[in-house]
Amino acid sequence: MQHIFNCTQCGKCCHGLHIPLTLVEAIAWIGRGGRVKVLTEAIPWTDDTLLADEVVSRKRAITHHGLSGSLSVRVGITLVGYFADGCPNLDVSQRCNIYKDRPLSCRIYPYELNPAIPLNPSNKLCPPQAWETSEPKNHQASQPLNQRALPTLDTLDALGTLGTLGTLGTSDKLSKNNEPQKVGAISIVDSSTREYIKSIHMANTNEIAQKNELCALMGINSCSLSNDGYLFHLVDQERLLKALNDVLPRHTQPLRQESESAQRSNKHLNWVICSQNEQILVDLSQIGGNTLPAGELNVGEQEFISLSSPSS
Ligand code: SF4
Ligand code: SF4
Repeated sequence: MQHIFNCTQCGKCCHGLHIPLTLVEAIAWIGRGGRVKVLTEAIPWTDDTLLADEVVSRKRAITHHGLSGSLSVRVGITLVGYFADGCPNLDVSQRCNIYKDRPLSCRIYPYELNPAIPLNPSNKLCPPQAWETSEPKNHQASQPLNQRALPTLDTLDALGTLGTLGTLGTSDKLSKNNEPQKVGAISIVDSSTREYIKSIHMANTNEIAQKNELCALMGINSCSLSNDGYLFHLVDQERLLKALNDVLPRHTQPLRQESESAQRSNKHLNWVICSQNEQILVDLSQIGGNTLPAGELNVGEQEFISLSSPSS
């Protein structure tokens, strides 16, 4: 039996979120009084011999060339809107008051962006009844009035940052075929959701040069190791807004991915890779990486969330 997701409009997914944003969305988010932080992560990247692999190629496309010490890395940079309780865009009736302009990430929940990550209902905030209907319905008609966003740190990885190397999933291929995306036994039945997912993938690819420039302007040069932890930079919002406005016009209309040679000729930050895991720090240092124990980050300016134990 095929299960079709049907939103129950419970509204749970507009609370306590980290929402990945495009550059334009981040400007709008701050403009409305919301707060945005910057998530940075790196993958050591010594050669391109695996580029024939579609997953590796895709990871490369959404990251920027950089160095950590003498170690070649690819750096992923994500702008993240965040709030602890209810989204600041909820009105008194708990409805999204920017519904027509809500971020792309809000439009695709609970589906995963990263096709390598299977959709797992138990990781989502949606109640069981949202997953139980076997009769296809018009998904758009069942959207919640307040709409949704991505709820957990776990899903940040699913949003086109670096993610986990694995088998290429289905969304791109199926979008090309114009067929419903199936994730396990759950289908994305409406074309809008598939188009939103494609738009996020495009933004992640097209905006990486601008985000790298943004980090240079903001003096952000520390990052986590992908899959070891999340490093958020809690930056002054006025400075961030100015930097966003500085980098955006030079590259847009339309946004274009910067060529690899242009990336390499850019002035680059030398990235410091942070971890709570002593062995990871040692291993990275031995291959030339520039490292810092996460405990030495500036509290109040940076926030590190480890995915590994200190000594594993
Ligand atoms: S997407 Fe899920 S959590 Fe959000 S309102 Fe719908 S059923 Fe509730
Ligand atoms: S859908 Fe609207 S209210 Fe919900 S998280 Fe997104 S912007 Fe906030």
